Amino acid sequence: MSRHAAAFAPPVDLDEGRKNLIGLSREDLTAEIVGLGEKAFRARQLWHWIYHRGAQDFAEMTTLSKDFRARLADRFVVKRPAVQRRQDSRDGTVKWLLRLADGQQVEMVHIPEEDRGALCVSSQVGCTLTCRFCHTGTQRLVRNLSAAEIVGQVMVARDELGEWPAPAEGRKLTNIVMMGMGEPLYNYENLATALKIAMDNEGIAISKRKITLSTSGVVPEIVRAGAELGVNLAVSLHAVRDELRDRIMPINKKYPLAELLAACRGYPGRNKSQRITFEYVMLKGVNDSPADAKALVKLLDGIPSKVNLIPFNPWPGAPYECAEAADIERFADILSAAHIAAPVRATRGDDILAACGQLKSDSERRRVASSSAATPG
Ligand code: SAH
Ligand code: SF4
Repeated sequence: MSRHAAAFAPPVDLDEGRKNLIGLSREDLTAEIVGLGEKAFRARQLWHWIYHRGAQDFAEMTTLSKDFRARLADRFVVKRPAVQRRQDSRDGTVKWLLRLADGQQVEMVHIPEEDRGALCVSSQVGCTLTCRFCHTGTQRLVRNLSAAEIVGQVMVARDELGEWPAPAEGRKLTNIVMMGMGEPLYNYENLATALKIAMDNEGIAISKRKITLSTSGVVPEIVRAGAELGVNLAVSLHAVRDELRDRIMPINKKYPLAELLAACRGYPGRNKSQRITFEYVMLKGVNDSPADAKALVKLLDGIPSKVNLIPFNPWPGAPYECAEAADIERFADILSAAHIAAPVRATRGDDILAACGQLKSDSERRRVASSSAATPG
């Protein structure tokens, strides 16, 4: 375990001494079952019930013998994070505040589109990084999510959307984007375990082509994720000069632009249809000039890429403003003229504070408000 992983490790989650089966890799699940004196194929049946059927109670698992079910129930649970609050945006976006076993909270967001839907999943409580434009980065409470808490978000979404087993057509949850709270590549082991479970064909079965990992640029883990997971990569770039990127994204001091772009160039399997996405938040007077756009074109030379221009989403006390619409358009035009796709990301769910960079803000404010009410003076 890396030093970061050890310092921010999630607590061991035992439910009255019973271990959660969610979040165990197939190998670990099989080892538990074999440890009970059962044949390994029982683990496969169990996997099917948990990740294909969405069963939450051993009693439902009718292909297993009564005796085996009883022994499972003595030792294990199948437990997801609890839904504390659900908010529905007028545009169909849904945000859930989830409560974890130790009382910590995270948010996840479902963004429906006509023929598909993405679930924006969190990887940490808060974030250890402190990008200046991001509200998640201002939170003090931080820990990594366990594999169970990461894949558990996908399972809660399927519960809420009524998609067990997932319908062959018209699914509401087709894609996973690791773009919620936290830096996923600072929680690599748990993330990798969770995504391998989500990709498994005999369970949740969301393929690597439908999963996008967003990172602020943790270079060594980008290389690892490329080799071991092969999911789509999104890089939060936001600046084209080291001097500016150092200021707005402190991680740049550790992994500067040249190293980051070299890792992107080496990311496997990229081609015209599977490009690397570069996220670029448009900050007024900071990174929105035509010179920035031209420098961006140069920087991305030779990388199959797409640039998502994200209008800055404000939050209370934020030190920036969103760029003017005309400047965003001009920026997009320069990229398009250089044959780089540059959609301006539509802001979704802003009425419920579910947009990029806004997660957790509402719930944290509520907590602060209620704790100050409880301890006057
Ligand atoms: N930590 C990862 C995953 C979070 S993804 C990362 O940074 O990539 C969330 C995306 O929203 C990132 O691209 C982030 O830079 C962007 N973002 C953060 N704050 C924002 C804000 N206030 N307005 C718009 N986008 C923001
Ligand atoms: Fe963390 Fe990403 Fe926010 Fe930066 S933008 S503080 S890496 S969540």
